[in-house]
Amino acid sequence: MLWKSTSYTGWGRALSAAGELARPERMSTLARLGAVPAIGARRSYGDACLNTAGQAADMSRLDRILGFDAETGRVEAEAGVPIGELARLFAPLGWMPAVMPGTGFATVGGCIAMDVHGKNHHADGSFGQHVISLKLMQDGKSRTIAPNRGKALFEATVGGLGQTGIITSAKLQMIPCEGPGMEVTEQRVEDWDEHIALLDSSEARYTVGWLDATARGKHLGRGIVEEARSTAVRPQSAPKGSAKSVPFDFPRFTLSRVIVSGFNKAYYLRIRDGGQTRIKPLEEFFFPLDRIRDWNRLYGKSGFHQFQCALPEAELPRLRSIAERIAGSGLASPLAVLKRLGPGSGGLMSFPMAGYTLAVDFREGPKARALISELISEAQAGGGRIYLAKDSLATEAQVKAMYPDWRRWAEACARHDPEGALETDLTRRLSLRSL
Ligand SMILES: Cc1cc2nc3c(=O)[nH]c(=O)nc-3n(C[C@H](O)[C@H](O)[C@H](O)COP(=O)(O)OP(=O)(O)OC[C@H]3O[C@@H](n4cnc5c(N)ncnc54)[C@H](O)[C@@H]3O)c2cc1C
Repeated sequence: MLWKSTSYTGWGRALSAAGELARPERMSTLARLGAVPAIGARRSYGDACLNTAGQAADMSRLDRILGFDAETGRVEAEAGVPIGELARLFAPLGWMPAVMPGTGFATVGGCIAMDVHGKNHHADGSFGQHVISLKLMQDGKSRTIAPNRGKALFEATVGGLGQTGIITSAKLQMIPCEGPGMEVTEQRVEDWDEHIALLDSSEARYTVGWLDATARGKHLGRGIVEEARSTAVRPQSAPKGSAKSVPFDFPRFTLSRVIVSGFNKAYYLRIRDGGQTRIKPLEEFFFPLDRIRDWNRLYGKSGFHQFQCALPEAELPRLRSIAERIAGSGLASPLAVLKRLGPGSGGLMSFPMAGYTLAVDFREGPKARALISELISEAQAGGGRIYLAKDSLATEAQVKAMYPDWRRWAEACARHDPEGALETDLTRRLSLRSL
């Protein structure tokens, strides 16, 4: 039996879908499914990976490595291969994926369809910029596209939310690394200006800021900046034992204002004055939360939302006021990240833009929804955009205004999927495919 009726959610668990999923193990079986949306590890937070009352192909069993060239660092992998698996396999051989998001569970297909960015976006651009070619299945038939072969379709597919076909495999250019260790320097930053100044002046290939999103007044923007580089030095501690898991949905008080701000303060003070440098296993630096399985249950049964925006550099004061608004709300969780973005992006609907990105998690609830809606409007007013991998609350008008190449993308989708068979809950909610 190919199809199984099931209910499922994205990572945020605030939105869910009931529909039919197939989990093919072979390309021939996938081809028999016809035109249906593909989903990866469902690490997008909102409804990008949901298809209510419809069917979807779960790609997680199409996870073979098809080829690897140790001289050039080129790897060919099926779309269901988790990106962390590529890092785990190839870093000891001197290569790692050029771009990795904050979870190693994201699949190659999901990384292309969202054109994900990593802690090195300012240096290396987005995931799609390292795709040499990919195979796309359209209504059961396969074709190969690349930046210089079917360029228009390639640009609509990278960051294209799976709306041009099913990505079945990709050839990726990895980057050289010294081994599976990362030399990570962590420094405390006392306020917003110091935080931005350190992100701006950092010359590290990998830079990311953790923000105490509850700190206000003179402490607004305080946090920890991590700078890292690959190293041949072996990590002091290999990841120990099996991953821990969150066994049940946490009650609401777990993320109360008092608990979160107390936790954040302790987390901030964990770093010595003057900073500290450690050699960490690659997974610990790139995917710090992956060792706690089901950590999304910490937000309770109703789930959570992530607000993630990008704003151009000139709009830094607006980003500061967004951070101020979040801190004043008392709704933020400890998960808040501030990053510098470079100009690189691989597709028409890619999220990154030169400037800064801020991402903050909020437990689901009417107050959080109202706040996020306000923040989305602010991001739009500043010529920025929100990330569709995280969104569940934006409106059609907002998203169409934020993505200047949206129309070209929607036209390409209409050419390649005229019946709208690949639509997901996200594209329907935002009427993204309606021209
Ligand atoms: C802890 C955590 C940290 C994260 N950090 C980052 C980060 O730093 N940077 C960043 O950019 N993102 C980040 N993300 C978001 C995540 O990387 C993206 O949502 C990514 O797309 C998830 O991949 P997935 O395989 O789970 O795809 P899914 O969530 O299952 O699907 C995402 C989209 O891709 C499409 N898709 C998936 N597979 C295919 C395929 N084979 N063919 C065609 N379309 C497909 C789906 O239709 C959907 O539109 C993070 C997520 C988590 C949970």
